[in-house]
Amino acid sequence: MYNVEVLNGWMDPSMNKFLIALITLGTIVSPANANNTEKISGDLYTQHQTLWNAIKSVGVKTYLNPPGCEVLKTKDVAGMYFPNEGKLIICQDNYDHKKGRVRVNWTANDLDTLRHEAHHLVQDCAIGKFGDGYTSKLFKDEALANFIKKSGMNTSEVNDIVEEYIRMKYEPEHIMMELEAYAAARAVTPNLIAQKVIEFCSPKSP
Ligand SMILES: [Zn+2]
Repeated sequence: MYNVEVLNGWMDPSMNKFLIALITLGTIVSPANANNTEKISGDLYTQHQTLWNAIKSVGVKTYLNPPGCEVLKTKDVAGMYFPNEGKLIICQDNYDHKKGRVRVNWTANDLDTLRHEAHHLVQDCAIGKFGDGYTSKLFKDEALANFIKKSGMNTSEVNDIVEEYIRMKYEPEHIMMELEAYAAARAVTPNLIAQKVIEFCSPKSP
């Protein structure tokens, strides 16, 4: 359960409102986590290929295992989306920078990272156009709380994320965008995220 008392003072009113909404929705249940049992082949793999292609098709610069990953991985960062640059990078778990450019298999965690970063792209496209530095969550506070609850993330996971990002001095609004991306990665199919990428990020006709 959240310790709202502790978080008070750190949070702005909207973050508090959000956390209280999350709590009043009741216990967050942990369903059997499909991610752990799915084999990464066939349709699941194809869907992520579709997602990767969708990201590229709207003009985002994508990088798989760029040299910067070597440093990022020491900080436990598996991917990043840069809203000021329209740039997305993925650092695969099994990529060995000493061995150089060898193809490695995607792990469940790699695919989760791709969904998470792709959702950050959609957030960037939700306001203005991508790469302009403006980002927004897709859900308003209470709807977001509901979305997170339904995603199957449990309370301690949410709590850990909130605390981690508070430690990194993220603004409350930014923390909520992170929670939304974690929930999207958990619960939204790659095909649907790909659809949202196309819908939100395609260059608008004049
Ligand atoms: Zn993130």
